[in-house]
Amino acid sequence: MDNLSSSLINIKVNKLIPLAQYTTWRVGGPAEWLAEPTSIAEIKALIDWAKKQKIPCQIIGAGSNLLINDAGIKGLSICLRKFNGSKIDPKDGLVEAVSGEPLPTLARRAARAGLHGLEWAVGIPGTIGGACVMNAGAQGGCTSERLESIQVLPLDGNEIFELKQQDLNFNYRYSRLQKEPFVVLSAKFKLEPGHNKKELCEKTHQNLIHRKSTQPYELPSCGSVFRNPEPFKAGRLIEDLGLKGHCIGGAEISKTHANFIVNTNHASAKDIVQLIAFVQQAVQKTHGLLLHTEVKQLGFKENV
Ligand SMILES: Cc1cc2nc3c(=O)[nH]c(=O)nc-3n(C[C@H](O)[C@H](O)[C@H](O)COP(=O)(O)OP(=O)(O)OC[C@H]3O[C@@H](n4cnc5c(N)ncnc54)[C@H](O)[C@@H]3O)c2cc1C
Repeated sequence: MDNLSSSLINIKVNKLIPLAQYTTWRVGGPAEWLAEPTSIAEIKALIDWAKKQKIPCQIIGAGSNLLINDAGIKGLSICLRKFNGSKIDPKDGLVEAVSGEPLPTLARRAARAGLHGLEWAVGIPGTIGGACVMNAGAQGGCTSERLESIQVLPLDGNEIFELKQQDLNFNYRYSRLQKEPFVVLSAKFKLEPGHNKKELCEKTHQNLIHRKSTQPYELPSCGSVFRNPEPFKAGRLIEDLGLKGHCIGGAEISKTHANFIVNTNHASAKDIVQLIAFVQQAVQKTHGLLLHTEVKQLGFKENV
């Protein structure tokens, strides 16, 4: 353990922490260094520390779209799930959320305040930062729709600045944040005020019930593994090949939803990588389509 102390901050950087507990797949080896900051000052100090040590730095949100190698990750992993909170103005619909705020928490708070526009987000177990990076979406809605701007800190700089929605090159499960070394610190949304609170809460609740009945929420997963090769659905292509229930090691193609790989029995990242490759080959052979992964990979030399 290392202690970063200054007049402003005192945060622990822990060595060799298993990252499986930081991902929803419950898979991944140790972080060489790991810290969980709760303020911007701590995030800045951690990035400075990594620069001084000349080690790489990566950001983890809720780890709900991450595959981390069994060998772990070199350098400093900064997990932002403890950097959370949100401010809601029920009158004008403005919502400002800190990057580690869970998306389901914000969706429920917005509904309770009579703000329409985030009911789709209740079943996505990520943080606001991860949702902006991934342009997370479901049931016809997505993060970029109601986003006004985000506040970022470059991993290679010191100055915090704002990026407007239109600067972020949003697309289907894509933003420019996937290519550039920014830490998302917070996000501002403009929701629709004045809606019936009871109806919004009921709609939000029904969305969650629908997802729980069609997706394997009871087992560790990362949500959809593959991007949909429009106009096709990856899950349908995999299901049509009869691959539901196919296992490699502790990883299984979900029997509930074929675009999910679930960790049924102490799966390793290697099991999952092999199962991904198996599915890609099977779909390519039959349909001539290469399925690309939606899930982000950390600690691998090459991405699958
Ligand atoms: C059961 C289940 C259901 C799901 N359903 C959906 C769904 O319907 N729709 C959907 O779109 N996704 C879905 N997902 C996937 C996932 O929840 C989303 O992609 C989510 O937005 C990821 O957020 P996160 O905080 O977990 O990010 P992580 O998985 O921690 O990180 C994802 C990427 O974002 C980067 N990142 C995270 N936070 C920051 C930050 N603050 N600053 C800079 N970079 C950052 C990471 O470095 C990584 O590259 C599901 C996952 C699960 C487990």
